[in-house]
Amino acid sequence: MAELYELTLSQARSALLSRECGAMELTRACCARLRATEDRLHACLSLLEEEALAQAKKLDESGPEAHRPLWGMPLMLKDNICLRGSPTTCASAMLRDFVPFYDAEAAARLKSAGAIILAKNNLDEFAMGSTTENSAFGRSANPWDLGKVPGGSSGGSAAAVSAGQAFGALGSDTGGSIRLPAALCGCVGLKPTYGRVSRFGLVAFGSSFDQIGPLARTVEDCARLFEVIAGPDPKDSTSARLDLYPEGLPEQNFVEAAQAGGRSPEESLKGLAVGLPKEFWEQEGLSPEVAQNCREALQVLERAGAELVPVDLPHQKYAVAAYYIMSSAEAGANLARFDGVRYGLRAKAAADLDSFFVSSRSRGFGPEVRRRIMLGAFVLSAGYYDAYYRKAAQIRRLLRDDFDRALSRCRLLAAPVATRTAWPFGFTENDPLAAYKMDLFTVTLNLAGLPGLALPVGLGAHSRLPVGLQLMGRPFDEAALLRAGAALERLVPPLGAPAALA
Ligand code: GLN
Repeated sequence: MAELYELTLSQARSALLSRECGAMELTRACCARLRATEDRLHACLSLLEEEALAQAKKLDESGPEAHRPLWGMPLMLKDNICLRGSPTTCASAMLRDFVPFYDAEAAARLKSAGAIILAKNNLDEFAMGSTTENSAFGRSANPWDLGKVPGGSSGGSAAAVSAGQAFGALGSDTGGSIRLPAALCGCVGLKPTYGRVSRFGLVAFGSSFDQIGPLARTVEDCARLFEVIAGPDPKDSTSARLDLYPEGLPEQNFVEAAQAGGRSPEESLKGLAVGLPKEFWEQEGLSPEVAQNCREALQVLERAGAELVPVDLPHQKYAVAAYYIMSSAEAGANLARFDGVRYGLRAKAAADLDSFFVSSRSRGFGPEVRRRIMLGAFVLSAGYYDAYYRKAAQIRRLLRDDFDRALSRCRLLAAPVATRTAWPFGFTENDPLAAYKMDLFTVTLNLAGLPGLALPVGLGAHSRLPVGLQLMGRPFDEAALLRAGAALERLVPPLGAPAALA
């Protein structure tokens, strides 16, 4: 019999509801796994074991509640998502001592669904990065190879989920931060349509890009988390009121969609038009092993009856530049509040007010965050606004048009998540541009505001590390991604347990 921590979230739920195990037992199993692996992974910034066990005990006393979709389920949160009474550091010295007095809406929804929050996960400082090496509190490691990065910025969440420390986690995706670590650690990650999940209580990076989304070990598990956190929230003015447009909406039952995909993969894929953006598949630098696994996954789709359609995203070549210009501009504005007066680390002594700000901010922010703030200030400055920010905003519109065109013919698009499998620590250390280019295949979707699902499609022939395929969809059509994703997941061989933790 498998260890409890190895169950999928869906299996764990059945075990809880049938009283095969209790919330306490399940939480203890995750705590034990955490203790056995955390020295090597450093996936967590704060452990909430005591609170979690107390919560589990309370739940067990009242017994399983089937109407609460995450009853008794140990989960984790990326540490830029506020949880009342626990530190929320954003992996930054700036917020080392910040303890929010409220829950992010997504966290509140998990809790009211009965979830148990076991830890807050490591990330790149303020979610800026693709490796988790930018954390002020030390990097996380990849459970498949402890000398390699887990991806980022939700690297702690992906490492924890893939290692079995929890049955799922919430991350945030501004330019790929859910999909990239999911791919590099061999788990499933969903970046929802912009506006789908409330950003209330998510520490803002790029407000017009940020979305909270789930990471889990299977597509169905992802759907279960997503179903709980999705939906309008009056506290976030950018959250979408889909209830106002019931007639034009695609299917909105996510768990059912994923289950249908897993139950009858051929039926779910038959006749499905899947677009292959040539700019992704023909990208120079796409590693042969990633290309091979992703192409094999396409063959699986095709054999099951999907129709593969070549499509163009002509403005993809500008995506990385446009993303870094716009997201840094927004980051600069969002991080202005951390000045030592209103929020954040406060410098002890300073000669005057200006040097007080400078000293608070220089000590609170790490090098990558400072770089983004400077880049943001530059692209918004009077002399350069038209040349950079305005151009980037135009590209953003054109990219969305590219997608609308491709997605009018196809229900979804498929492409690799990243050009390669996990890379060694330090690989992009002295070359920020090389780091930015790791996001080549993910930022496009955030610029367009569309949903994307990353799922594992085997280990690379050469590296023996997980390879991720990305399905991209129409606005608010996450159900189609989950259905096709679950179908594909059924048809490709499972990855098994992460090699470096065996
Ligand atoms: N790697 C990208 C960046 O550094 C994306 C980060 C994210 O999605 N939060 O901006």
